[in-house]
Amino acid sequence: MRIILVGAPGAGKGTQAEAIKAKYPIAHVSTGDILRANVKAGTELGKNAKNYMDAGKLVPDEVIIAMVESRLQEPDCKEGFMLDGFPRTTPQAEALDKMLEKLGIVLDAVVYLDVDDEVVVKRLTTRRGCKACGEIYNTVFKPTKKEGVCDKCGGEVVQRDDDKEEVIRKRLSVFHEQTAPLIDYYKKQALLATVDASGGKDAVLRLLEQRKAG
Ligand code: ADP
Ligand code: ZN
Repeated sequence: MRIILVGAPGAGKGTQAEAIKAKYPIAHVSTGDILRANVKAGTELGKNAKNYMDAGKLVPDEVIIAMVESRLQEPDCKEGFMLDGFPRTTPQAEALDKMLEKLGIVLDAVVYLDVDDEVVVKRLTTRRGCKACGEIYNTVFKPTKKEGVCDKCGGEVVQRDDDKEEVIRKRLSVFHEQTAPLIDYYKKQALLATVDASGGKDAVLRLLEQRKAG
């Protein structure tokens, strides 16, 4: 299975991806996660990307495209993959089409997770994450037992630098301007399926199972 998850920041792409991974042995390729790992490791790529990320801006297309191209050629992508957070601009989608053609790969579906901006703002301003193990918390819906301390590993639980309200609003406007055109792009390729992001953690998985059965 080869799919793309498209959705505004905070639509829950990561959460849906977890549910899909539990069922299908496919690689989860999240450009946001790859970038954050590079920032943490202090690589050249990470140093370059951090300023864009903290401002809620997109990292330049050519950087992202090269990163994904090499990632898709790693062995774990052979059985299939799920792209999460890529493509995010029309040039990225066009580059992906070229890449897939070159690799002889056909996409199964592009799933658009539809969510309201205000829901996103509420969700992301209350989101917290463990610096050590990556576990995600929420100050309202899933608080840690002890404030600022991870239940799972005892690591420090903090807010992502780009989860401040001002930055979230910037990320949303970037989504509407630069990423939303991809909805039409994939509609034209007859690949698009839309899922209501409030439909639960396994909404996308259920859609994929239905399509397989039907
Ligand atoms: P979200 O979907 O919650 O905004 P991600 O974890 O997908 O967060 O991405 C975090 C940041 O990483 C983005 O705001 C952007 O700066 C950068 N980024 C991730 N994927 C891409 C991409 N495909 N193109 C450009 N920048 C990206
Ligand atoms: Zn932890």
